[in-house]
Parts: sequence; structure tokens; C-alpha cells
Amino acid sequence: MILVTGGAGFIGSHMCRRLRDEGIDHVVFDNLERGWKESLGGSRLIQGDMRSREEVAAVFDREEITAVIHFAAYIEVGESVKAPAAFWENNTIGVWNLIEAMRSREVNQLVFSSTAAVYGEPQQVPIPEHHPRNSTSPYGDSKLASERMIEAASAAYGLNAVRLRYFNAAGSHPDATIGEAHDPETHLIPIALLAAAGKRPRMKIFGTDYDTPDGTCIRDYIHVCDLVEAHILALKHLENGGKSDLFNVGTGKGFSVKEVVSAAEMVTGKSLDPELADRRPGDPAVLTADSSKIQSAWGWKPQRPDLETMIEDAWRWLSDPAYGPNR
Ligand code: UDP
Repeated sequence: MILVTGGAGFIGSHMCRRLRDEGIDHVVFDNLERGWKESLGGSRLIQGDMRSREEVAAVFDREEITAVIHFAAYIEVGESVKAPAAFWENNTIGVWNLIEAMRSREVNQLVFSSTAAVYGEPQQVPIPEHHPRNSTSPYGDSKLASERMIEAASAAYGLNAVRLRYFNAAGSHPDATIGEAHDPETHLIPIALLAAAGKRPRMKIFGTDYDTPDGTCIRDYIHVCDLVEAHILALKHLENGGKSDLFNVGTGKGFSVKEVVSAAEMVTGKSLDPELADRRPGDPAVLTADSSKIQSAWGWKPQRPDLETMIEDAWRWLSDPAYGPNR
């Protein structure tokens, strides 16, 4: 039985959908603070909080857990700057509670959601896995500390953990039954699409004076279903006795904010006329992944790498009249 923490969230709900499609036995642990029970589909929920050592441990007493995929965490860089303690508590102590519960119940397979934010301001792009980890926000720090705890637990207790460093997760399931729904929403693609759907006011472009061809930030957008595939491969690796490892997960291709806006206009047929605003503090100019390691190790290859495809999938979900955090 696979334990999926944060299975009601954006990436977690797509993971569970895939596990259901493949008939893989799993259970979700989620406090529903940021996730939506409507996203769970047929997956079974144990409602609980990563910050509670007892609640996390109780799951391992109730269920025959063999491996864990850990998504449950706060994810907003800007929020982390304003409320760092919440990130240390939920993200970092949460991982510690999980590792302790796994150690005492002899569960030693973990797939961990890490992030490009652990790298901080890149010294080179695309970023390889051996790039120094110089995170520049409490969010990145909370994930970096989690990574260090996982490394220590691997060395000390034989935990086998695959850390996946995501770049910018995007898109939604092509059948539009689940998708991205943060409240408040801060991510570029949903903000652009919600503006196109008339569900948000005019969007802003944060910074037009970066050292990039069109002056706006470049990011590596990766379809959520391609991210899920990386987790499936990680699970198989661990099930086959594979050892700890870490991988970037991105397409390797960057798109500027202006390119995303143009693609969103093309897909939706609406003019967005974005307001040109100041830079958002802490945004590096360019973040793209060198994902050659996961490609050569496991043959992972993004199946939906085109920006238009990601935006079309997200649009199907966000333009649904029934869309909303409580749908
Ligand atoms: N961005 C923007 N307007 C928005 C939201 C985001 O211009 O309303 C920019 C943001 O500054 C960054 C890029 O879009 O350069 C991607 O931001 P997002 O929050 O989606 O992901 P992040 O890269 O911060 O994880």
C-alpha cells in the first residue's frame, strides 16, 4: 500500500488518479487545508496533519504501508518570506515526523517532492543536479533542510529516497476532471487563464527589465502528468531495490512570461493586455532544468512538453463553468 501525503493537492491528486488508473493500492493523508476533497476521486482519505507526529505515526499503525510519496507541503515562495515559521513547521518538521514514523515501522521507500528553489539564483542554466544548493527563500530553505534530513536518514537508517526537484508544474489532467486550484492563486498560467475567463482582474507581468531576450523571466514548465510519470518510475526503482537518488524534472526548455501570455491568448482567443509591473522580489531571471540524468537513468521523457498543450489542458479545466476551489 502506497501512502500519498498531500494527495488532495494539485500534483498529489494527479498522482492518485494515475495510481487508480493502474490499480495500485494507495491511501491519501491530507489535512485538506490547501487541498480539495473533490480532487480525491475514488482515493481513500485519512484526514490528518503532517505537523502532528502522532497523526502521522498512526497511519503506519492502521495501514500496511510499503512506500511513501510525500507531497504535503506549503509551496508559495512569497508566503514563506512573510510567514517563515509556518514553512519550517509544516514542511520541515512534517518531513521529520514522516521519516521517524517510517524508521520505527521499517518502511524505507520514499519519493520526495523537492524543488528547483533549492538551487536559488542559478550559476548556470540549464541547472544540473550537482549545482550548489543556495536557496534564497524560507520555502527553498525548508525543502533544502528536508533534503538534508533525508540524506542523513539514508546514511544512518538505510532509508531509500528518491528526491525529485520539480521545475514549474503546469497543465492539468487532459480530461479536465482535476487540475490546479490554489486559493489564493499566485501561479502565472492559472492567473493568465482565469483573467482570460473573466474570473480574475487584468493580469500583471512582474518585471520587464530582466537580462533575457524579451526582458521577462524564463521558466521551465513541466506538465503535471509528466511529473507523475517520474514518480511512477521512482516507485518502480525503489520497489526493485534501487537506492537513494535525486533528479531534476523539467523539459529543459524555457518560456518567458511574455511567451506564456501570448500562448494563453492564442489558446483562449482572448486579449490579455497585461499590466507591466515591477519585479516580484526573489524571482531569478532564468530557471531551466538539465533533466538528462532522469532521461538516461530511467528513460523518462516528457510526453506533453509543448507550452500550448499545457495551457490547453489547464484551460479546459479552468474555463469549466463549474471550476472553483470547491467544485
Ligand atoms: N508571474 C507574473 N505574473 C503573475 C504571476 C507570475 O509575471 O501574476 C511571473 C513570475 O514573476 C515568474 C513567472 O511568472 O517570473 C512564474 O511564476 P510562478 O509564480 O508561476 O512560478 P515560480 O517560478 O515562482 O515557481
